[in-house]
Amino acid sequence: MDTYDCDFFVVGAGSGGVRASRMAAARGASVIVAEGGALGGTCVNLGCIPKKLYSHAAHYAELFEESVGFGWAPHEPSFDWPKLKARRAAEIARLNGVYDNLLANAGVRLVRGWARLADAHTVVVRHESGAENRFTARHILLATGGRPQAPSGAGADSAVTSDDMFDLDPFPRRLVVVGGGYIACEFASIFAGLGSEVTLVHRGPRLLRGFDDEVAAFAAAEMQKKGLTLRLNAMVTSVRRLGGAQVVQLSDGATVEADTVLQATGRAAFTEGLGLEALGITLHADGTVPVDEHFNTVVPSVHAIGDLVGHKALTPVALAEAMVLVDRLFGDGTRPPLDYDTIATAVFTHPNIGTVGKSEERARKDHGDVRIFRAEFKALKHTLSDSTERTLMKIVVDAATDRVLGMHMVGADAGEVIQGFAVAVQAGLTKAQIDRTIGIHPTVAEEFVTMREPVR
Ligand code: NDP
Repeated sequence: MDTYDCDFFVVGAGSGGVRASRMAAARGASVIVAEGGALGGTCVNLGCIPKKLYSHAAHYAELFEESVGFGWAPHEPSFDWPKLKARRAAEIARLNGVYDNLLANAGVRLVRGWARLADAHTVVVRHESGAENRFTARHILLATGGRPQAPSGAGADSAVTSDDMFDLDPFPRRLVVVGGGYIACEFASIFAGLGSEVTLVHRGPRLLRGFDDEVAAFAAAEMQKKGLTLRLNAMVTSVRRLGGAQVVQLSDGATVEADTVLQATGRAAFTEGLGLEALGITLHADGTVPVDEHFNTVVPSVHAIGDLVGHKALTPVALAEAMVLVDRLFGDGTRPPLDYDTIATAVFTHPNIGTVGKSEERARKDHGDVRIFRAEFKALKHTLSDSTERTLMKIVVDAATDRVLGMHMVGADAGEVIQGFAVAVQAGLTKAQIDRTIGIHPTVAEEFVTMREPVR
């Protein structure tokens, strides 16, 4: 029998790679993980976690304003951007340490450097010093995630990506965001909340492709109420420098001045330098790594998960894929495959969007006859806060089976609310079961269990 340096060599210590390493080690495998960057990958360092911290920071702006309606004396709060950056950096450094400890405590060997595959069972790691080490492994997992698309087109040389947003110096008083996806919408909302004058420029007629049409339109309207300017059906045609500013010319004739232009036009799988082609692994047209339903590439000993394969570029998906793979390679293989149709997600716009299951449009396409339940209202809190924010909740039900196909919310803490319902939707929730549920009063979430008559 062949002998290897380890049972499992994991390339990338992001969310998926760390989870896979720890789970494999817990099942008795000898595991090495290679990482050239910061431990924790995109989520911990340049994504979910710092983004959510900044979203919390941004929400205070409206909380200060709203408090006046509840009797608090008006005051002029000031915002200290360098302090927020420093506190975020300290927290991320703490988390990097937590990941280091998690790996060490699990008995996983961490190798610092960038890895490439030399053959189906050999990985070469290049260290910062330039020195290289070779490792042989029974199984190799690619979990290198993704990176922002490099800026392109007009103004590419002066544009930044989401990676740069966390440490901008100075704070962008005027921000142009290009794109209409998760990242564009979140950063536009967050920086508007922190005090930037934000213009969101999107080439399409609506934001957030793939989300329920009504939800996307409602969210866009609410985001604009919070002060950001939305320019749909518009592209950046030129950017010129004027002193320290960038003058951004749009295809709709508008001109916007900005201190910073963020291009949030998508992310790409990070395959550079992995040596995949030499191994016969040919990438999909969008740059992701092809795998079968068991996360195997065309090379039987090489597997891939997470943003690199791009089924759904979400941290919890990478974690779940890691556990399915590790269970098959080193466990009893009984863990069921992922149900990609009922993965809940939130967009941390202001207000938040939470969603699980199918949009109304997708449900009509797949199921034909659907019943739509909908509630739109001003939350109790805003009767005194003087905020004009409104909340939307929507349930999409299959008329033939009564099964809930989708639940959507735009409003405060939508992600928290939808997470609870996602368990039930995943378990096969019916509208009749929702109707039997007694609400918690007074909450916003109770509206989901009080919708009696379909609107369509
Ligand atoms: P998305 O693919 O979601 O959005 C890209 C946006 O850029 C789209 O609106 C697209 O328009 C637009 N676009 C693409 N190319 C161009 C171009 N050349 N010129 C102008 N506009 C362009 O990517 P994101 O980078 O926003 O996010 C990547 C993924 O990361 C998400 O899909 C999500 O899975 C994950 N993510 C999840 C978060 C969460 O869970 N809260 C937060 C952040 C990211 P069009 O629609 O017309 O194609």
